[in-house]
Amino acid sequence: MRGICENNEPLHFVGELSKLNFALYHNILPNPSFMKKTLHLLLFFFFCSLSVFGQKSPTGTADIQLDYYLPEGFTYNEKIPKPKDILGFEVGEWNAGYDQVIRYFEKLAESSPRVKFEIIGYTYEKRPQIMLTITSPANLANLDKLKSERQKLRDPNAKLDFGNMPLVMAAGYSVHGNEASAINSSILAAYHFAAANEIESDLDNIIVLIDPALNPDGSNRYASWVNTHRSYNLNGDPNDREHNEAWPGGRGNHYWFDLNRDWLLVQHPESQNRVAKFQEWLPNIYLDYHEMGTNNTFFFQPGIPSRDHPLTPKKNMELTEKIAQYHAKAMDEMGSLYHSRESFDEYYFGYGSTYPDIQGSIGILFEQASSRGHLQESIYGPLPFSFTIRNQFRTSVSSFEAAKNMRGEINKFMQDFYSESMKEAALDTDKAYIFGNIDDAARSFHLAELIQQHQIDVYALNQDISVNGVPFEKEKSYIVPLNQPQYKLIKAIFETRNTFQDSLFYDVSAWTMPMAFNLDYTALSSKIMNLADVSLLEDDFSLKAGMLIGEENAYTYAFEWGEYYAPKAAYHLMDQGYLVRLTHEPITLADGKVLKRGSILVSVQRDAADDSARKLHTSLLSLADETGITVYGINSGYTSGVNIGSPSIDVLKKPEVAVLVGTGVASGEAGEMWHLLDQRFDMAITLLPLERLSNADLSRYNVIVMPNGSYAEFGKAEAEKIKTWASAGNTLIARGNAMTWLNSNELATFTFKKDTIAQTQETGKPYADFTENTGARMTSGTIFNVKLDITHPIGYGYAKPELFTFRNSNQFLEPGKNPYSNPMVYTANPLASGYVHPENLDLIKNSSAIQIKKLGQGRVIGMVDNPNFRAIWYGTNKLFLNAIFFGQVIEGGTAD
Ligand SMILES: [Zn+2]
Repeated sequence: MRGICENNEPLHFVGELSKLNFALYHNILPNPSFMKKTLHLLLFFFFCSLSVFGQKSPTGTADIQLDYYLPEGFTYNEKIPKPKDILGFEVGEWNAGYDQVIRYFEKLAESSPRVKFEIIGYTYEKRPQIMLTITSPANLANLDKLKSERQKLRDPNAKLDFGNMPLVMAAGYSVHGNEASAINSSILAAYHFAAANEIESDLDNIIVLIDPALNPDGSNRYASWVNTHRSYNLNGDPNDREHNEAWPGGRGNHYWFDLNRDWLLVQHPESQNRVAKFQEWLPNIYLDYHEMGTNNTFFFQPGIPSRDHPLTPKKNMELTEKIAQYHAKAMDEMGSLYHSRESFDEYYFGYGSTYPDIQGSIGILFEQASSRGHLQESIYGPLPFSFTIRNQFRTSVSSFEAAKNMRGEINKFMQDFYSESMKEAALDTDKAYIFGNIDDAARSFHLAELIQQHQIDVYALNQDISVNGVPFEKEKSYIVPLNQPQYKLIKAIFETRNTFQDSLFYDVSAWTMPMAFNLDYTALSSKIMNLADVSLLEDDFSLKAGMLIGEENAYTYAFEWGEYYAPKAAYHLMDQGYLVRLTHEPITLADGKVLKRGSILVSVQRDAADDSARKLHTSLLSLADETGITVYGINSGYTSGVNIGSPSIDVLKKPEVAVLVGTGVASGEAGEMWHLLDQRFDMAITLLPLERLSNADLSRYNVIVMPNGSYAEFGKAEAEKIKTWASAGNTLIARGNAMTWLNSNELATFTFKKDTIAQTQETGKPYADFTENTGARMTSGTIFNVKLDITHPIGYGYAKPELFTFRNSNQFLEPGKNPYSNPMVYTANPLASGYVHPENLDLIKNSSAIQIKKLGQGRVIGMVDNPNFRAIWYGTNKLFLNAIFFGQVIEGGTAD
C-alpha cells in the first residue's frame, strides 16, 4: 500500500507555501480564506515530512517512502515504530548516524516481544557494539538453552532433531564504514523482521542476529562527512565534495584498519567482540554487506569457483548457489541488475564471508554499487542512495526465505562439516602443533590468545621439551591438538601452501601464523605428543608477569631486547628521564648469565636526586610485571668482556617520532604504525599531516616515518626540508614507494630491478588473457625467507638470522654497494608460503629487503616489506622498532 504522503501534487504545495512565505516575509496579512487553506496545507506538509517550516525537502529524496523498500505480500504490526518515527526522516533521505541506528534498535526492542537488544562490547572510540536478536518470544525466553543445543552441531556423535532445530541467520552490515547502504538497510531489516506479520510462525524456527555496523567508528566518520556536505538539492556530480571523503575516509576503524581482514586475526576489539558472539551462536548463514565502485551493479556470492579455498568443502559452494536463487528472484522482481560467480573470491579466511565457511557455516558476500553520498551519476544512470539500500535490504529478506526453506539441510550441513573434520583429523598423521620461542614469552602468548578466540583448545606445556633438537620451554610454548572440531581452522592457521588452482588472488595467498609471529613450530606425531605434560588454557589466561632479578640499589639494570615488549620498557624509562644505553657486545654477568648483543642498560642520571635509584627500582618492577620482560640488577660495573661503563655502549635518545599522513599515503599502513606504537608500546607519536610539513618545526622529531605512498603532494620545498632535517643526524624511515619518492627527489639512490609486469610487453598475446597474465604477476601477499644480520642494530633482539617476511609488492631492491648496508636480504630459495609468479621469484632471490643509506650526518632506512602488516606480523615488528630506536646509532660508514 502506498502512503498518503506520496501523491502527484508536490509542486502545488510548493506554490502555495511560497505564497505564504512571501506573505510572512513581507509582513502582509493574507485574506482569511487563503489563510485557512494554507493552514491545512501546512499541517499536511508537516506530517508528511517532519520538516521545519521554511526548510526545503531535498530534491530526489522528498518522495522516498517506506513502501518503496518493503517487499510485496507483507503487512506490518502497527505497534512497532517505523524508522521515520524515530529517526525523523525516511531511510535513505539522510545517512543515519550510528547513534540514531542504535536509538531505533532500542525502540524496536522496547516495542516488540520478538526483539532483544544487546551490547556486545565497545570500540576504540567507546561506541557500544550492538546485536539485535529477533525470533519468537518463546525462543527469546530460551536463548541459553538454544545456544547450548547449537554447540552440539560440532559434535558428530550428538543426536540432533534437525526438523525441530532453529536455524541461525546472522547479518553484519558495513564492516567498511563508508559502504553506507548496508548500515542503512539494517534499519529496514530490523523493522521487517520485528514487524512483518507474515513471518510470525517462521520465527519459531529462525533466529535472526543483526549487527547494524561492524565498524561503528568508521560508519560514524563517514555519515558525518556525507551529511555535512549534502545539499538540499541533491547533486550527483561525482566531483562534488559530498562524494569525496577527506583522507583517510570511513572505511577503516579508529586506527584505519580494514576490519574485513581481521576476522581470523582478531587484533581489534570490534572483531574480538564479534567473534566471541559468532562462536557463542554458530550461525548457519552469515550475510556480509558491502559496497563496490559506483559504475557497477549488484553482486552476491558464489564468487569465482576456482578461487575457493581447498579447505572449504564443495557442498558449501553448492548451498551458496542454491541460496543465490532466492536473491536472484528478489532482484528479478525489482528489475535490478546483478551478477555472481565473478570478481570476488573466498580464499582468505579473514573476511566476514569466508570466516564462516571454514566452520560449517555459509558466508555470503553482497556488494552493492555505491552512491557514495545521497545521489551519484553512474554509467547505468543516476544512482540514488535509496536504490542501493533497497537492494541490500531485499537480499536480507530473500536470505530469510532461503533459510526458512533450507533449514534442515543447512543445519545438517553444519554437523556433517564437523563430522567430516573429525574424520580427517583421525586420518591425519600430524596430531598436534607445538609452537614457542625460548627468548620471548609474549609472541607465543599472543598467538595462543588468537587461536583460543576461535573456540580452539590450546594447551600449555608444564615441562620443557625438545622436538627434533628444537627446545620448547614451559610458559613460552603451547600445543594445539588437531583432533578437535575446529580441525580445519587449525590447519588454515598453521599450514603452508605453495600450490594453487588459480594464480589470481583478491587478497593475500598466505597467512601461516607461526611464521608471522616468528616462532619455532612443528607438527607432532602422537608419539612425541604423549611426552608432553600439558594443561588446558583457561579462557582468561594472560601474559605471565615478568620479574626483576636482583636487589634494590643495583649499580645498573639491564634487560634483553629479544622480548617483544622490551621497547615499551625502554621508551617508558627514557620518557622518565633515566639513562638508557645500548650494548653492541654481549655482557657476561657475575652469575654467568650472558646478556645478548643489543641489550638495554638502565641507570639513574649523574645529577639524579637521592631517591631516584629507589624510584627506578620500583619502575622496573612494575614494568616487568606489565610487559612480561625479565630485568637483571647488576651490582658491579666490572663485568667480564665489556665493562658497564664502556664508552662503546651507546647512550640512546628517546625517539620523537612523526609519521607522515595524508592524501597519497597508504592509510592502512600508516594506521598499522600508529596502532603498534600507540596501543602496544605506549609511545606518544605525532601523525604529521603532509600539508603541515612545510610550516612545521621538524627539530622536535628525531625519527620521521614515511609509510608506503606516492607523496605526490610534496614539491621541491618539502624534499629540501626533509633533506636538511635528516642530514642534521636524524633517522628517516621510508617504506615501499616512499623510497621511490626519495630517489626522484635526490634524497637517496635506491636501485630497483625492473618489475616483470612491465617486462611482459612481448607481441602476439591474446587480448582475452590480459587480466590473467598481469594478475598472475601481482604479488598480493606471500611469505618469504630472508637472512637477517643479527649483529646489525636493525637485527638486534633476533636470536637467529633466519626470518620470515611478508611481501605484497613487486618492488625488487638491488643490494647496496656497501656490504654493511643490507642488514636483511632474501635468501637464494626464498618462497616460504603462498603464491608467487616464477619470474618474480627470480627477481626476489638475493635481493635486499632493508637497506641503509647515508644522508649527511643522518641516515635513511629503506624497507621493501611492511613489517607491521595487519597488526599480525609480531615477528617483524621489531625490525621497525629497531629502525626507530637504533637508527640513531647505526655507524655512518656502514651505510651506502
Ligand atoms: Zn566492503
